[in-house]
Amino acid sequence: MEREGSFKQKSTSILSGIAIYAISLSVSNHFVIKFHINCGITTKQLQCCGVCGIVGASLTNWCMHMTNLPSHARIVIVGGGIIGCSTAYHLAKMGCTDVVLIEKAQLTSGTTWHAAGAIGNLRGNSSLTRLVKDSIDLYETLEAETGQATGWVQTGSLRLASSDGRQVELERMLTLVRSYGIEADLITAREAQEKLPIMQVDDVRCALWMPGDGMANPSDVTMSMAKGARQNGVKIFERTRVLKIDVVNNEVRGVTTDQGTITCETLVLCTGIWTRELAATIGVSVPLQPTYVQYAITEPMPGLPRHAPSLRDPDLGTFFKEEVGGLSFGGYERTPVPYLESPVLPNEEFKLFEENIENFEYLMEGALHRIPSLENVGIKTWIHGLDSFTHDGTFILGEAPEVRNVFVGAGFNGFGIASGGGAGKALASWILEGEQPYDLWAADIRRFGAYMRSDRQVAVRAMEGFANHYAKGDPTEIFKAGRPLRLSAVHSACEAAGAVFEPIQGWEVPAWYAPKGEAMEDAIANEQAAAQSSVALFDLGSLAKFRILGPNATEVLQDLATSDIDKNRCAARTFFLSVQGRIQADVLTIPLAPNDHLIIAPANRGVLVEAHIRRHLLDLEDAVCVDVSAGISAFGLAGPEAREVIRVLSDREFQVPPPGSSNVISTIVAGAPVTLVQAPDGQALEWLLLVSSEYAVTVWNAIAKPRGGATLAGARALARIRFEAGIVDWGRDFGADSTPMEVSLKHLVDFGKPMFFGRDALLSAPENRPGKCLLHFVSENPDAMLSGAEAIFRDDKCVGWTTVGGWSTRLGRAMAIGFVREIGETGSYVDGTFELRKGATRIPVKIMPGYGLQSEPVHIGE
Ligand SMILES: Cc1cc2nc3c(=O)[nH]c(=O)nc-3n(C[C@H](O)[C@H](O)[C@H](O)COP(=O)(O)OP(=O)(O)OC[C@H]3O[C@@H](n4cnc5c(N)ncnc54)[C@H](O)[C@@H]3O)c2cc1C
Repeated sequence: MEREGSFKQKSTSILSGIAIYAISLSVSNHFVIKFHINCGITTKQLQCCGVCGIVGASLTNWCMHMTNLPSHARIVIVGGGIIGCSTAYHLAKMGCTDVVLIEKAQLTSGTTWHAAGAIGNLRGNSSLTRLVKDSIDLYETLEAETGQATGWVQTGSLRLASSDGRQVELERMLTLVRSYGIEADLITAREAQEKLPIMQVDDVRCALWMPGDGMANPSDVTMSMAKGARQNGVKIFERTRVLKIDVVNNEVRGVTTDQGTITCETLVLCTGIWTRELAATIGVSVPLQPTYVQYAITEPMPGLPRHAPSLRDPDLGTFFKEEVGGLSFGGYERTPVPYLESPVLPNEEFKLFEENIENFEYLMEGALHRIPSLENVGIKTWIHGLDSFTHDGTFILGEAPEVRNVFVGAGFNGFGIASGGGAGKALASWILEGEQPYDLWAADIRRFGAYMRSDRQVAVRAMEGFANHYAKGDPTEIFKAGRPLRLSAVHSACEAAGAVFEPIQGWEVPAWYAPKGEAMEDAIANEQAAAQSSVALFDLGSLAKFRILGPNATEVLQDLATSDIDKNRCAARTFFLSVQGRIQADVLTIPLAPNDHLIIAPANRGVLVEAHIRRHLLDLEDAVCVDVSAGISAFGLAGPEAREVIRVLSDREFQVPPPGSSNVISTIVAGAPVTLVQAPDGQALEWLLLVSSEYAVTVWNAIAKPRGGATLAGARALARIRFEAGIVDWGRDFGADSTPMEVSLKHLVDFGKPMFFGRDALLSAPENRPGKCLLHFVSENPDAMLSGAEAIFRDDKCVGWTTVGGWSTRLGRAMAIGFVREIGETGSYVDGTFELRKGATRIPVKIMPGYGLQSEPVHIGE
């Protein structure tokens, strides 16, 4: 049976009749609203009378207040909010019951208890959407399993569009969520109003209707998972504070608490807003920013039925949810306020803050515009609490790269209730299997680097992300906060040449060059043309570079790499795989000398690659991994005239290496020692130049126009060149849930090697058959445009979605790349009639021969 929200409702009844004060608040020039603040009771009073009693009461039914910590557990989880309890529940369900959960106060007493409990399926990518779907599936059934209600109600939700841009965004979202298998519809403003009659829709164009969305009671759902965990053997200790994490040789050994010490093999930090500080004590960086979030709950609203659909109105920055007959509403403030005190709330639990009405005004205006009858009801409760936010709006999951066997689940950006069930499940699986269950790169803790270690950097960037939460996903939009930070050796030269920079992993990367203020599209097209018809020069200084050297360096790399990385002393594109044979990294290895190799990875994957290598180095002595990203500058040259540029600038006679010999040349260019790496013809870049950074400006100036004649080109042109060449991109087109066969790059796996990590899994997969297939599509309609995020239909059935699309000048047609996730009736992925759909637009497409299944691209570049 569904149970009503515990704290807020009960506190309401406790507080009913306490009309303490009324204020008049001017929210705009047009409105003067009277709030009868029925619950003007102070935060402190609220805490004492409401929460503790209620949550505590529900706890005592089944959760022992254990006092004797065991001396050891296989897994210790710190934090009894929704994420910690969900992780504990799922670990136990997966058969791992030697688990202890430690909470410094009471379960839910951090952020979880005061969440609004709105749960929306729609997320930025398929993996996060899947994760929320896992939450919903669990919340629907948990009560039957544990006997503890979750408050889950499927209400459906509406997301409005009041502008052209937003309508386009909703159409794109509709296509995507449907291709993920989630029910959704684009409905008219009037149809939306029929579902939620209290809203006015004069300015609304359309709405996205998601019938599967709903709400849960945050405390109840957490307690239900905690109960399920305990029923399956997990031991939960409240009033037990972790004081110190014990680490030896970069490996966790246990924790010291105020109730004693406990050793463990794996530690999981689910400590919400406290995670950054606690993790920092062992050198683990968790770049989240505790930030104030507030919403208001009204008295019962006439015309608002129980369990009415929730509403998101991104153009006004607001959201609404029915709450015991009243309306709870809030949103993403334009000027969010970071919580900057240190230590973070040292001794507080069930903490709320006084309302910040001034900051709420903008949201209030929007709310009144959409729901005019709000003017006539009183505000019953203000909830003003803290949650943690990250710069990219996504949470932080996975094993910390700095310390082995320390996992993190934190930074939930205002959607921890929606994500809690799925995130705990993913984290539990990650811990037990040693790898993420599906591609969770968007939330992976390894997406951050040392550039995010600064508290100030984290704060400014997280606040920018918060304020832009509902910004339309415009790909040309470039974040501004905390810049510039990391500059390549030729940054000033690029700047002087008119570079427009975009931040990647803290680096300022030239995106395109507009010395005379050229429009972005024109500039990129010119750069692309130069790369195809003459010569273009790219600054690739942001690439992550690691040197592996020592007596066992080659052996270590051969064990990790799917390709033979020492064959003919050639540079090689290779994968690093997980034990299960899935792609963990896609890198370029360059032999510099015997047992001395350079590894090059995309800038934003450097931490992941380094962590992967280090983990294996630990098992093998006599090889070290050194990050040389800053010391070695990298330039790319593309175009038919590239080799002539190098020839003119070389001291020595310059010859292109014959086939079968090493494609790595040590030479002198413009007076500087340079390592040249040649890529096969027809690929994105002809040459990669590696030069010690003190020579970088000299070499750059010699190659660039006007002296060397090369046109400067940026990352956007390189992405288009790569796309046109059919080179699939690790991170954008495929991730950690794919095997080399699934991305049609089987040729990068050398099964002739006696051993490499993941080999056995690849060989034992049923008939070596891929579970999906990455394909290139070309439009059959010469006028159609493709931009990515289209649904892929085979014979009228949705079988996947595209990751990227665009115009191919070479083909004179639009192209797109995406996984076909279902095999056709004939047993092949490529058979059938294909069509790409976006909104109502349908574009017939063909699979491109020569790409995908047969492509042999080389991956150099960001
Ligand atoms: C006002 C507001 C409204 C929200 N509305 C929604 C919503 O509608 N939908 C939604 O999906 N999300 C919502 N959220 C977000 C959601 O509440 C959070 O993302 C989620 O609760 C975070 O859960 P957690 O387990 O990570 O953190 P917490 O709930 O804070 O749990 C962390 C726990 O760790 C414990 N701990 C910390 N340090 C130690 C230590 N040293 N030793 C032992 N224990 C320790 C703390 O006591 C705490 O209990 C909202 C958040 C706010 C602030």
